[in-house]
Amino acid sequence: MRIDFSDKNVIVTGSSQGIGKQIAKTFGNSNAHVILTDIVEDKLEQTHQEFLDQDYSCSAIPCNVTDKDDVQNLIKTTYKEHGSIDVLINNAGITRDGLLMRMKEEAWDSVLETNLKGAFLTTRAAIRYFLKQRSGSIVNISSVVGITGNAGQSNYSASKAGLIGFSKSVAQELAPRNINVNLVAPGFIKTKMTEELPEDIKEKYLDNIPLKYFGDPEDVANAVLFLASPLARYITGQVIKVDGGMVM
Ligand code: NAP
Repeated sequence: MRIDFSDKNVIVTGSSQGIGKQIAKTFGNSNAHVILTDIVEDKLEQTHQEFLDQDYSCSAIPCNVTDKDDVQNLIKTTYKEHGSIDVLINNAGITRDGLLMRMKEEAWDSVLETNLKGAFLTTRAAIRYFLKQRSGSIVNISSVVGITGNAGQSNYSASKAGLIGFSKSVAQELAPRNINVNLVAPGFIKTKMTEELPEDIKEKYLDNIPLKYFGDPEDVANAVLFLASPLARYITGQVIKVDGGMVM
């Protein structure tokens, strides 16, 4: 079966750059209408224009996922303008790394707010429509550190582990209505988020990756596309690691 998202509307949060942008492209390449959304309007508009220039079917709605009103507007506008919401990808995420001893409360709160509460707000708003339609797919972007933990990332790891518990619970709530909820847990993927890390840390990560190279955003996007597609109709509440074998 070919993966084809013709007539499907797909929302990807944090899709101006990095993994989210690639996820949006991958759905666009499978004929989806993609709703691009991100917190910074200029950057979003730039990506939107780039997508339009490449003939993707897409729209753009600015949304800070930690803001309830923004989220309501994103979901309502999508439904009003397109008549359905078929897939929600919770990708927006931030890091504020540091050892716990020195971690400011703000660093804890902002990471939990964006990475975990953001997914709660968008999911809660979208499932109103999913339940009515009796269909829909949600894919949440966690991280392997949500499974293993990572020194210097207690806030980020907690948010990504929380996302796994959240998704598994929601998967159980929504399964009777034919709605799948799954997660992708990337390892080390080449994006802005990781390019700022010092070389010695990157070398340390590479030592622990059996495939001996860092992943590309496409590697994550392909797994997301599969999980949101009819090929994965019998998969729900699962975490797929995309990490070159780092965590087995
Ligand atoms: P990225 O390049 O920083 O992209 C994340 C996007 O989300 C940015 O455009 C960011 O905007 C946006 N964003 C931040 N806060 C937001 C908010 N409150 N509302 C809406 N959008 C917001 O990161 P990435 O590497 O592509 O990561 C994407 C996802 O994969 C994240 O959830 C991340 O935790 C996860 N992940 C990444 C890796 C990796 O190796 N890169 C590994 C595991 C998991 P600003 O830049 O303006 O803040």
